[in-house]
Amino acid sequence: MSKVFNFCAGPAMLPADVMQQAQQEYVNWHGKGCSIMEMSHRGADYIQVAQEAEQALRDLMNISDEYAVLFMHGGGRGQFAAVPLNILPEGGQADYVVNGSWSKSALAEAQKYGQANLAADYYSEDGKRSITPFEQWQLSKDAAYVHYCPNETVDGLEFDYIPQTDKPLVADMSSCILSREIDVNKFGIIYAGAQKNIGPSGLAIAIVRKDLMGKARQATPSIYDYQIQAKADSMYNTPPTYAWYLAGLVFKWLKTNGGISAMEAQNKLKAEKLYSYIDNSEFYHNQVETRYRSRMNVPFMLKDDALNSLFLQQSEAAGLLALKGHRSVGGMRASIYNAMPVEGVDALIEFMQTFAVKNG
Ligand SMILES: *Cc1c(COP(=O)(O)O)cnc(C)c1O
Repeated sequence: MSKVFNFCAGPAMLPADVMQQAQQEYVNWHGKGCSIMEMSHRGADYIQVAQEAEQALRDLMNISDEYAVLFMHGGGRGQFAAVPLNILPEGGQADYVVNGSWSKSALAEAQKYGQANLAADYYSEDGKRSITPFEQWQLSKDAAYVHYCPNETVDGLEFDYIPQTDKPLVADMSSCILSREIDVNKFGIIYAGAQKNIGPSGLAIAIVRKDLMGKARQATPSIYDYQIQAKADSMYNTPPTYAWYLAGLVFKWLKTNGGISAMEAQNKLKAEKLYSYIDNSEFYHNQVETRYRSRMNVPFMLKDDALNSLFLQQSEAAGLLALKGHRSVGGMRASIYNAMPVEGVDALIEFMQTFAVKNG
């Protein structure tokens, strides 16, 4: 098999080293005669796996004891509900910044539970998709929190700063967690579905400042109550044990490969290569304002939409998978998370060049 690179937005490519290790110990984990998937989450072996995963994530992101790190069910969208259920009081309000399809969905979910305000909406300037300037956000005095999505996976928009507010800041980092260095202390809650930069789908990580716990509404499902899960070490019910284990392998892989700073440098390089090729080409273009272009998800259009299916057919045959853009945006999208090596981006650019010459 010649080399294949998977540009899927999620579930996404995982580090090959991690999958090889998981394969090698799949049937007989550490000589125990059974798979980690078959072991009790209450047993000493699994508890060690779980704790090591949490510790590795704490080390990578420099997470202090002020925060609980929770391994939960239900992916990113589960957290769309968990956040308001835990920290939007009955009769209270919260502010949501919308700059793409995921933050829009988070707002719609929160509105089921209370007053969630649209503090900023889709924004564009000079025909380019952008992010509403911070000074124009309509933040309310009484908001219990401010929610935003630092990287919009579908739209290819990413914040290059952390907003400063006097309210707890809640961030949906599903598609950018661990991709660049951030100061966790600036956030009230960080959450992420796992399937982009962490591991298998279904798992969600929630990093919750401890003073925000213990306020969940009466009707909050216990599995989504941060306080209950924190007290139970995320084992109030059976956690997604295999996903948690695999996430731990990814965290350890990140640590042995230079941690987040090394990933950030590589992610910057990959994105710069791809955007600069697109910008210098007359055949492809990207519609996002330069400052807010995502390092993780790169949408691009061909000169002529009629060539889209040929592009997809030939790129797949060349071992470049899942480049089809999201149906709401069209065109193509290359998702280049941590696990995508620089050579994958080089191979994509080379293919794009050849395709442009033949079809230009
Ligand atoms: C993928 C994604 C989600 C949804 O995750 P699910 O696990 O499918 O619920 C939410 N937010 C962002 C930013 C995403 O990229």
